[in-house]
This record gives sequence, C-alpha cells and structure tokens, in this order.
Amino acid sequence: MNLDDVARGLESRAVHAGQDFDPATGAVIPPVHFSTTYAQDGIGGLRGGYEYGRSANPTRTALQTQLAALEGGAHGVSFASGLAAEDALLRAALKPGDEVLLGNDVYGGTYRLIARVLGPWGVKLRVVDMSDLAEVEAALAERPAQIVWVETPSNPMLRITDIAGLSRLGHAAGALVVVDNTFASPALQRPLSLGADVVVHSTTKYLGGHSDVVGGALVLNDDALAEQVRFLQYAAGAVSGPLDAWLTTRGIKTLPLRMQRHSSNGLAIAEHLAGHGAVARVYYPGLAAHPGHELAAAQMSGFGGIVSLALADGAAARRFAESTRLFQLAESLGGVESLVNYPDAMTHASVRGTELAVPEEVVRLSVGIESIDDLLADVDQALAGL
Ligand SMILES: *Cc1c(COP(=O)(O)O)cnc(C)c1O
Repeated sequence: MNLDDVARGLESRAVHAGQDFDPATGAVIPPVHFSTTYAQDGIGGLRGGYEYGRSANPTRTALQTQLAALEGGAHGVSFASGLAAEDALLRAALKPGDEVLLGNDVYGGTYRLIARVLGPWGVKLRVVDMSDLAEVEAALAERPAQIVWVETPSNPMLRITDIAGLSRLGHAAGALVVVDNTFASPALQRPLSLGADVVVHSTTKYLGGHSDVVGGALVLNDDALAEQVRFLQYAAGAVSGPLDAWLTTRGIKTLPLRMQRHSSNGLAIAEHLAGHGAVARVYYPGLAAHPGHELAAAQMSGFGGIVSLALADGAAARRFAESTRLFQLAESLGGVESLVNYPDAMTHASVRGTELAVPEEVVRLSVGIESIDDLLADVDQALAGL
C-alpha cells in the first residue's frame, strides 16, 4: 500500500504503516515471525533480504516502518529497550574524547549510561538547562560538543525546550541534535520536522502504551548515520524480539487516540491540583502559568499525560505517593493505567546528589485513560490524608 496516497494522516499511518496484510493468506494482521533463520534459494539467495533473526526479522521491519512513518523520518531502527537504542546511537555518533551536552533533567538512566558506561571509554559529559537557550549558546561557545541531547517535555520537571531554536544552535556548533521524544510521542510532537537530527524513544512508555513490553527506537533521516546505527543493531545485537516488536506495533495503532485521553485527563488533573491548598506547585505545560506553556502550545499538539506536583516537603510527597489507590505506586509511565512515582527514591535514585537530582518534595503522576472522576477522587482522598 502506498501510504502517501491513502494514509496520509497520523491516525491512518499509526494503523497502516508497515501493516500490509499477509500476501500468502490474506491475514489482515501480519503474522509474528518467530523463525530465527530463513531458507535460501541457493547460496545467498535470500527472499526479501532475510537471513538470520539478529540481522533482520519481518515483524521488526513492520515496527521500524511504522515508527519512521509516525515520526516523519527516513529510517526507523528498533531495539530491546530505550537505553539499548541510546547506547547504539551514542556509540555510532561518538568516539573517545567527544562530548555530549545534556539537558539537566533528562531520564536518569540516560545520564547513567553516558557518565558511567561511556565515560570510562572516554566520552565526556556537560550538563545545562536546555530550556534556557542562552545557557546552551554560551556552553557551545565555550567548547563545542558533538551531541546536544534534550528531553522535552523533560522528566520529571516538564521543562519545555524550543526544539527549532536548539537545533539551530546545535547545528551552528556542528553538533548532532538528539531529542528524546518519549514523553510527547509522535502523536503530540515531531522533532525531525522542527530541525532535530535524531529522535529517541523508550517505546516501553506511550508507544507500547500498555505497560507490557520493553523496547526502544531511533528515527532519523541521515543515511550514513542510519547505516552506522543499523550496523551496531546487528553487530552488538540489542534487537527487539519478534513478540516485543509485534506488541509494540499493536500498541502504536491506538497511540493517537490514547494521547488525546492522556492529554485531557492530564489537564484536568493539573488544573484540579493547581487549585488545591495542599499542593505547593504543579508542573504541567498545559497550564497557562507554566513557563513553557506558549512554546509547548506552538510545538506540540497536546500536552500529554505526565503531571508533576510539589507538596509541602519530602515526607508529604512520600505519604501522598503511598496513599493513592487507583494511581498505583510504580516506576515507568505512559501506560493506559495511572501510576504515581516518587522520583527521588525511585526513577531518579541513580541521579541523587548529581546536578540532575529531583527535589524531594516532587511526585510524578502518569495519568492514564481511566474515568476522570475516579482519578480526581483518588488524588483528593490522598491529599486529604496529608
Ligand atoms: C524510560 C525512559 C528511557 C529508557 O527506556 P527503557 O525502555 O527503560 O530502556 C529513556 N528516556 C525516557 C524519557 C524514559 O522515560
């Protein structure tokens, strides 16, 4: 099927990209291909380029096609986890002595990967507030960086960075501009269209969407870099397994629909919390009072389902996180079910004491797609107990 003719819209692409029916049987849903190896029509006679499960797999190809179509990129490459995708990108793009300029509130595991895994191999790291482009410009003027890496909205403080502005600064300094688009997902924000070079995803979150499969992906336009990334996918081997790839493609089909509900529920929760006496501060780009609100409204088509809040102190934050009932206390985010997380001791424990540490009074909510009245009642009963 030629998508450009019949499936131009994002919702159509989410359902149809890479999902052609099976030519042998007509099965509308392409089968999951578990085979690790492929019969050859004579030595080297591959059918469709498939040879061995690590080098390529049709179910993985379907997912990669779908990811590229959603982000509007030429190449989609999927991995066993978000961090495996990040590792492949960093090793493809960097050599010893190179430096990464990193946002000061990125996923803790990204910081850990660069500082503690790649650091000993000679990769250097500098941290700045990416939402302040003057600070980024000054940092790049002081010393160039090979990669500029941002998360917007960021985790868990929901800071917003101007992707187009950052891309201009990064490119002027000769850097590769990487956006971790996990929080927004391509349903709300497409960084490549704003000038970024590479989009990173933990597909474990909104893309998979049901908290039942770990995965990661890169989407990019540059052919040479894509070839290096694919080489590492093959040569280092952190590939997505067939069932993981299939579950992710199934999740992605409802991504645009889910993001609408995550966004409307997120906004309702954020507005409600902002008017509650026990809440010191709410971090949500959909609120007019958020410093990045106008920028988010311009570069995103919705504000998403992550809402962070500050309570009176660390003890109140811990008590709140332990007393919601519908919001389950768990790491991760982006699934249909609502979750509550205490970053300081959970998702961001690995960055405690570093420049990425999260204030101890902050709690992060991943607002799911449940009935909004139930979600509001749950946060109210938790706040009442503080
Ligand atoms: C979870 C997450 C990652 C890491 O992805 P995994 O799939 O857990 O390896 C990277 N970036 C962000 C923003 C995340 O939320």
